[in-house]
Amino acid sequence: MAGVSLHSITKRFGDAVAVDGVSLDIRDGEFLTLVGPSGCGKSTLLRIIAGLEGQTSGLVSIGGMPVDALRPKQRDVAMVFQSYALYPYMTAAQNMALPLVMRRLSRWQRLPLLGRMLPGTKASRRAIDGDVKVVAETLDIAHLMHRKPGQLSGGQRQRVAVGRAMVRHPAVFLMDEPLSNLDAKLRVQMRAEIAELHRRLGVTFIYVTHDQAEAMTMSDRVAVMRDGLLLQVAAPQDIYAHPADIRVASFIGSPRINCLAGTARSDGAVDVHGATLPGPPALPAGSSVTVGVRPEGFAIAENSGPETITGRIRTIEHLGSDLFVHLDLPAAGEPVIVRTEPGMHSRLHHGEELHISAATGGVLLFDGDGRRVSPPAATAVPLRSFA
Ligand code: ATP
Repeated sequence: MAGVSLHSITKRFGDAVAVDGVSLDIRDGEFLTLVGPSGCGKSTLLRIIAGLEGQTSGLVSIGGMPVDALRPKQRDVAMVFQSYALYPYMTAAQNMALPLVMRRLSRWQRLPLLGRMLPGTKASRRAIDGDVKVVAETLDIAHLMHRKPGQLSGGQRQRVAVGRAMVRHPAVFLMDEPLSNLDAKLRVQMRAEIAELHRRLGVTFIYVTHDQAEAMTMSDRVAVMRDGLLLQVAAPQDIYAHPADIRVASFIGSPRINCLAGTARSDGAVDVHGATLPGPPALPAGSSVTVGVRPEGFAIAENSGPETITGRIRTIEHLGSDLFVHLDLPAAGEPVIVRTEPGMHSRLHHGEELHISAATGGVLLFDGDGRRVSPPAATAVPLRSFA
């Protein structure tokens, strides 16, 4: 078991900066997810930890030991790739056994015919088969061991790839978008399985995804990246309720947070689209702010008033458990999304006006640089499910 420390990691490809001075301590046994939009540098950072890519500057240590001079196989890490990277001509069992074969058998012992006659080969092969069997049973794929990757479903291939990483009992698992080739239903099932596997093994997992729902549901902590920079690292519920930056607030949460241009008032409230919302006192009067309100931070009001925003209903999305109403506001670019109860469905009609208000705890303020300026709200909006 081992934690991973990254100290000021920068990676340049020519003039382009893929990773920009990232420092991060990942605790022993933690499930940390690197999340961010395509091209933000998360895979590059993972590959640097694995030793598959060399950093331009900065230091990596695993289990308290500097590993910058070590090759990938000396680092006691195992990586699971998006493509699974299984050998198509080998069976699932042979694919899973491969890391052990490479480690425990000499080059001569690995030869197909001659190798079997060499002393110790049979015993080592038997031990490897036993270890593969144990892992296959853990992952519930023992019955598939004789099949080749082409004869397996995407989910089964993914389990074999995880099994191949597990057989070596690495100190750290590195996973690069391992679920992105699976359909939506299987992805939800597999993310629960990976989270459960992490709980059972108790070792460090570093997981890369661009899917914020995966990050939020599986992780102990989420590290949000953008343009090579690490924007924020925190527990999922903290990232959601207390985003440090508007880019974090916009990336985490589905549907996305509503961002409206507003002006701070002397009494601490904010003027937004003709309404006065009860913002936390944080800025000098007259300052321009971006007001962030998550869909569940708005409530439908019976009547218009000084604290309500009025819009026109563009779309109504009925998801069964939730109802999302998209409202067009005059002079606002994107529609505002409001979550409400499914029971409201019969009372809402396309094209009609709707009044909405926001509670204090649901209003987040960001300054001109996109930094959060409101103090962390004790009355933060509760964490919603991230299906
Ligand atoms: P994705 O989710 O699309 O995989 P990512 O966040 O994992 O994206 P990286 O693959 O780490 O992003 O890439 C970060 C940046 O570095 C991108 O702009 C990418 O084009 C660039 N990059 C990555 N690998 C190389 C390379 N070998 N040579 C040149 N540029 C590279």
